[in-house]
Amino acid sequence: MTDLSDQLHLVDSHCHLNYPGLNEDTAGVLARMQAAGVKRALNICTTLEESAQVLAIASAHDFLYASIGVHPDNQGIEEPTVDRLVALAKDSKVVAIGETGLDYYRREGDGKTDDLNWQRERFRVHIRAARLLNKPLIIHTREAADDTLAILREEGAEAVGGVMHCFTESVQVAREAIALNFLISLSGIVTFKNAHQVHDVAREIPLDHLMVETDSPFLAPAPHRGKVNEPAYVAFVAQRVAELKGCSVADVATATTRNFDRFIAGKLGNGVG
Ligand SMILES: [Zn+2]
Ligand SMILES: [Zn+2]
Repeated sequence: MTDLSDQLHLVDSHCHLNYPGLNEDTAGVLARMQAAGVKRALNICTTLEESAQVLAIASAHDFLYASIGVHPDNQGIEEPTVDRLVALAKDSKVVAIGETGLDYYRREGDGKTDDLNWQRERFRVHIRAARLLNKPLIIHTREAADDTLAILREEGAEAVGGVMHCFTESVQVAREAIALNFLISLSGIVTFKNAHQVHDVAREIPLDHLMVETDSPFLAPAPHRGKVNEPAYVAFVAQRVAELKGCSVADVATATTRNFDRFIAGKLGNGVG
């Protein structure tokens, strides 16, 4: 990749630096990220068991941030309570709560239960913790958009706002999330040829409401599709968003970085209630 570090200031708003694929060569991953103009990144927590590792990587670098949360797919792990999330999120590196949300994709094949009440309850715990902390939420939603929006409303999530990460839902769902003070984050999926719904979101939703992310080591964008993803590749996401919007990649970088700064400053929510 060409050296864009002087021209761009991009942020990878969602990556998993401590996952296999990235954690074997953290120094190399971070050097390539800087060379691609990706100046900062948010390292995402998915279990309480990995939280110390997530915080350790972020604490070692002033251009990295961390989240605290438990992913809706994870079972057989420590179940989070509001108190536990609040205590872990006191670390100065923690800027957001998540990733949390609902994932009904895994319902089939589980074989044990169709009752995903435990996911909804875990999601509510995260929203309550975020409101106590006045920190934004990082939302993962898959085949569960209606329930996700309903629970965000029921729990008063607009008080803190946050981000709908790796967004693959419709323009209409994006607009409903924006009305609840959430940003929309686009991943490498926007570079995939058949991702028409995501292309529509990139075209229709104004830059004021967008962030970009890799979700690395997963979901590498074209032309690296199928390989290990890494934060440097968020530049390909920004490039594709710029093409779809008919603007420059610098415009996308400026807007998405400004949005990230509002996000980590806790300035998205209306603070009501
Ligand atoms: Zn996710
Ligand atoms: Zn993730």
